[in-house]
Amino acid sequence: MRTPIIAGNWKMNKTIAETLELVREIRKLLGEAPANVEVVLCPPFTSLWVAKNALGRSRYSLGAQDVYWEPKGAFTGEISPTMLQDLATYVIIGHSERRQYFSETDETVNRKVQAALAHGLKPIMCVGEKLEEYEAGKTTEVVGRQTRGGLAGLTPEQMQNVVIAYEPVWAIGTGKAATGTGANAVVAQAVRGPLAEMFGAEVAQATRVQYGGSVTPANIAEFMAQPDLDGGLVGGASLKAADFVEIVRQTATVKVQT
Ligand code: PEP
Repeated sequence: MRTPIIAGNWKMNKTIAETLELVREIRKLLGEAPANVEVVLCPPFTSLWVAKNALGRSRYSLGAQDVYWEPKGAFTGEISPTMLQDLATYVIIGHSERRQYFSETDETVNRKVQAALAHGLKPIMCVGEKLEEYEAGKTTEVVGRQTRGGLAGLTPEQMQNVVIAYEPVWAIGTGKAATGTGANAVVAQAVRGPLAEMFGAEVAQATRVQYGGSVTPANIAEFMAQPDLDGGLVGGASLKAADFVEIVRQTATVKVQT
């Protein structure tokens, strides 16, 4: 039984004051995070400390949006896994915006995944095909390659702490989400397939895989009804407390029923 995980990727949004406001709003609407859904908030680095204090000993978890692989040193502007250890439980790695605007590759993603795990952080590793790859029928090939490359060298034990987010790039921030059945088929074939080859059938079945790409309260139920999807990585809708809370609530309801 895989516990669904909804993570809000706030991207480069929210000052410290705005962070406090959004955290308070979410908690006012949702109360405590439901027992059967893991809820993760991923504010920018600058807001992690204040969000951690605002969340106190609640069931909500925090995630960072990126991490560098070195523990410390002359890497101006970077944030190390040791710096995040006391602040976050999860860290998003290899988001398509990092791949697109900051030249991240499967190799750098892999270094970051390894470094995060070595320091007790749980990676949410993002994979997903671009529009031209989707249109050229290359989705399985691209997502399979990203899955294999990003997770190279890991042990089956380490995989217990890895979450994968399947995010078709053409669906991110566009309002044009994939279909539930379409996303499920990609995850079954291009994510769980390689996981089975690399780590065995048990790990392939136990690993949590989120869907991401224009998730809203109107479509989350369609994704959560799918057997291979275990939650969502939510961008735009995670900045609106009411929408984010509704996405968490529907996930809790649908996953209990299926
Ligand atoms: C994301 O940032 O990972 C994302 C899926 O964004 P959005 O929900 O806005 O498409």
